[in-house]
Amino acid sequence: MTDQYTFKNPVTAYENITPPKQSQPEPGLDTELTPKADLGENTYRGTGRLEGRKALVTGADSGIGAATAIAFAREGADVVMSYLPEEEEDAARIANLIEKAGRKAVKVPGDLKDSAMCRQLVETAVRELSGLDILVNNAGKQVAQEALGDITDIEFDHSYKTNVYAMFWLTKEAVPHLPAGSSIINTTSIQAYSPSATLVDYASTKGAINNFTKGLAQQLAPKGIRVNAVAPGPIWTPLQASGGQPTEDLPEFGKETPLGRAGQPAELAPAYVFLASAESSYVIGETLNVNGGMPTP
Ligand code: NAD
Ligand code: MG
Repeated sequence: MTDQYTFKNPVTAYENITPPKQSQPEPGLDTELTPKADLGENTYRGTGRLEGRKALVTGADSGIGAATAIAFAREGADVVMSYLPEEEEDAARIANLIEKAGRKAVKVPGDLKDSAMCRQLVETAVRELSGLDILVNNAGKQVAQEALGDITDIEFDHSYKTNVYAMFWLTKEAVPHLPAGSSIINTTSIQAYSPSATLVDYASTKGAINNFTKGLAQQLAPKGIRVNAVAPGPIWTPLQASGGQPTEDLPEFGKETPLGRAGQPAELAPAYVFLASAESSYVIGETLNVNGGMPTP
């Protein structure tokens, strides 16, 4: 059976998808995505890189967060999964895969736009896992709008609450619990440096996440807590089919990359595993770009 270590041509390693035009209400479900995204369910092979670790992953029900949660479990970590109540179906599927890997999965539905919910989530994680040593801030909101005037004040607020404030609230609550050796991993984007005309609010949150990561990394390094970020390029997830891209652009999604295809969530998971694991002990304040070859600063 092939796995993430099998020698392969990255151009053809995953299908060059041409997604049909489709639209789901936010936040979208992996189970409703056409074609299905590859979360590494059938390919990710763990080698003990996170044995005994305790992870909290936001947006762990689908897409990049789900692929990461599966990989973490197969590497030996227990995982607390954060997601929205509407995503129960996706979350249950991923929790089942975590348990099949022999690890504990704790599902905690709730809205991260609420600071009290963020605090409770961290407290639940610490209680259920008897501690915490990996925090992955991955939940995100992305809604394309042609004109600035189409972004309502509420939508702008929700983009910042979900992408930036929740990261701040969760990290602030988690840090006092994190022992030396812990890892915080934020999810930024190629949009942080190369914003699309239709993603003005979203792209600016990703710039903030990148900057927050690099500043906090210096603050926490002396405590032995490493802070890093992953910056995905175009990855096929429910975010993109629930307003993240204009519907008419979906068939061309990801074809602008040097690899010529969209990425799959399965291709992101190893980046999170690397940054979570002690093997990256000297990697701090880094943004690991996983984007099919698009140039970054
Ligand atoms: P996704 O839709 O699978 O995951 C996003 C998750 O965010 C959802 O599953 C949901 O559980 C969570 N979420 C959203 N609003 C929330 C709220 N108010 N409270 C709690 N949870 C909430 O899509 P994805 O593409 O895997 O997104 C994961 C991260 O990757 C996001 O931060 C996104 O910005 C980032 N990203 C994605 C791409 C891409 O092309 N897909 C590119 C760059 C960055
Ligand atoms: Mg989801």
